[in-house]
Amino acid sequence: MTGSSQAQLPAPTLHALREQRAVAATAAAWLTAQHGSEIERHHAVVTAAVNDAVERLQQNVERISGGNSFCRDLVTMAGDYLHWLSWTAWDLPQLALVVQPDPQRFRDDLSASVLVYFSGRLLDDYLDRHFLYRARRETLLARLARERGDGAEAEALSVLMSLLLCFEGLRNARAGAQLDTILESARGLLVGILMERSGTAEWSGEFYERLIRLKNVDYWRILYAALDAEERSPLYPFLCRYYALAQKLNDLQDPARDAQQGRPNAVSIYHGDVAAIIATDLLELGQMASELDEPARSIALTKLGESHDEAERLGLFGDAPPAPAPPARLELFWHSEYAEFYARAGAGAFETTGCPICGSAPSSPIFHKQGFAYQRCPRCTHIYVAPRLRPEVQKRLGDELDAASEDEFLQTQKIYADYLCRLLRKHANGPRLLDVGYGSGYLLRTARAHGFDVYGVETSRALTSKLDAMLGRNLAVAHLGEGELPWGSFDVIVMTHVLEHIAEPRPVLAQLLAALNPGGVLYLAVPDSDSWQFRIFGKEWDAVNPVAHYQFFNETSLTHALRESQFESISRVQMPPLKGKLRQRWMNLFRSLGGDESGELRLLGRRPRD
Ligand SMILES: [Zn+2]
Repeated sequence: MTGSSQAQLPAPTLHALREQRAVAATAAAWLTAQHGSEIERHHAVVTAAVNDAVERLQQNVERISGGNSFCRDLVTMAGDYLHWLSWTAWDLPQLALVVQPDPQRFRDDLSASVLVYFSGRLLDDYLDRHFLYRARRETLLARLARERGDGAEAEALSVLMSLLLCFEGLRNARAGAQLDTILESARGLLVGILMERSGTAEWSGEFYERLIRLKNVDYWRILYAALDAEERSPLYPFLCRYYALAQKLNDLQDPARDAQQGRPNAVSIYHGDVAAIIATDLLELGQMASELDEPARSIALTKLGESHDEAERLGLFGDAPPAPAPPARLELFWHSEYAEFYARAGAGAFETTGCPICGSAPSSPIFHKQGFAYQRCPRCTHIYVAPRLRPEVQKRLGDELDAASEDEFLQTQKIYADYLCRLLRKHANGPRLLDVGYGSGYLLRTARAHGFDVYGVETSRALTSKLDAMLGRNLAVAHLGEGELPWGSFDVIVMTHVLEHIAEPRPVLAQLLAALNPGGVLYLAVPDSDSWQFRIFGKEWDAVNPVAHYQFFNETSLTHALRESQFESISRVQMPPLKGKLRQRWMNLFRSLGGDESGELRLLGRRPRD
């Protein structure tokens, strides 16, 4: 990036760009939460289509050549490269959300489009002497040159393989709109490649815009023809302009190389105006995005977010700070000590707080565990960790330990699930049930058996993917308090052993209230600081964990929190004694003391009827 393409943009433009970037980040999070599993399914189709295309190519060449080993080796080498290139088609799964293609037809059509698309890649590798693709993997050209020790021969073979892929793809294409679009776009691409070689005398803004429409937008259309050959998607006009913008940003990466080769580049054509031109593109594209319906709107904004990331990486808009380096892994655990977090993540890993329930100032700690101090609020009796890990550090740890993150405590939920579902049936006004932090999904399955229409959110991607096959569309990865829940209008929300993990429970309770229908029911379960378990085992009770659990409620403090968040009809739920094999002798002790087996505090609250 040369200094000449950086410019001081007017403050209102910079402000609008910053706002757009924030909106784009929210949209991207929403899209993942709401449609993540559907995108994954389309993604699987893309992977399968590339496999189909490569396999058919190999079979056809085998048949046509009568098993010629030279042809076979060549096509095998090309196949390796194509498998690796399949990530270049990974925009399609998101775009498929809008088009909703029939999976089999999408797979068939894509196996045609990808080959023509990849033939363009091989041609480009040859023309621009790409030996490394994105500095990561050797191209087919490079491998041929290496294995055959003859550059000219490797170039000839690359061009021939490019033609072979192109014809094989056209042979597979569906007659009608798909074939027509591919032919028209491929022709445009070739004219663009020729135009790129014209002398500087012809270069102008108009020339450049036409060039990237042919070289980049038409190139992308070859692939897109597998999804939406008639170009009916409401996203299509946005995408055409977006892929032109993507090339302008791409040009900024290495304008010197293009200058050396005498190739047109956004920097050499627009000079110092390039930042302003890209800013205009972004803002106008943002306007186009805002006029779309969901999910097209969020897909468009997500793409714009990627452009913003790129612009920032290039320092295009001047004032943007460089992206922080990704933090090193913590390599710590839920039972790690305060001092270990300090050593790994520094003083910035911690924050101090007053009572998260009533806001009173902390006094002196009542005990320590793992080096963390526990405070008891003199006003509402809530027990909490202060100073505590910053929530982002806790989340980082959670992400690192994702695969193993199911709370031991959730096991006890299985025992009570059936009883709880019967109880909820009695209290609920309707069937829509959301389980926040559903863990292994046991309650979701039980609730479904009781006739509830079940939805779940979970912070753990590993736990979500386990249940995808069964509940796919109704599950989402989401962090409470960050952005909106993907759904609303629930009759019941269940949240067991989640609230104690959360740094600021009050906004989360407000969010849950908003997600309930008037008269809807919230069921909360948390470890109880008034339980006999805590009285007997003290801080050795395994529910006392300052890294995982910031909050330690009792009935008084949790009732206070619910009231302050506008819940009403708050009542405590007792579970019946366990029977038969589940009942163990130690449980009698807690029952005889007036407690129960789990040491849980369970409350029901209701959203007022408006
Ligand atoms: Zn308090």
